[in-house]
Amino acid sequence: MQKNEPIRMCIACRVRQLQKDLIRLQQKGNSIVPYTGRGRSFYLCYICSQDEKKVKGLIKRFKLSTDNSKWFVKYLKELE
Ligand SMILES: [Zn+2]
Repeated sequence: MQKNEPIRMCIACRVRQLQKDLIRLQQKGNSIVPYTGRGRSFYLCYICSQDEKKVKGLIKRFKLSTDNSKWFVKYLKELE
């Protein structure tokens, strides 16, 4: 691990990882979107992104709409 590389925390499992190894997302009202470059963002690790239970937990936590939940699940599946 190199010095001075930013470390961020996964919001689902709270593991700290290099920022570049995490998925950066953003909350917009009751939706989750890929980070737009503006505003507050949060991070998800790849292990959690492939964990159905964790993803469902996030959907509940952010009170996502049905459409957005579907998009979110699909988006994470396609990341790998
Ligand atoms: Zn995680």
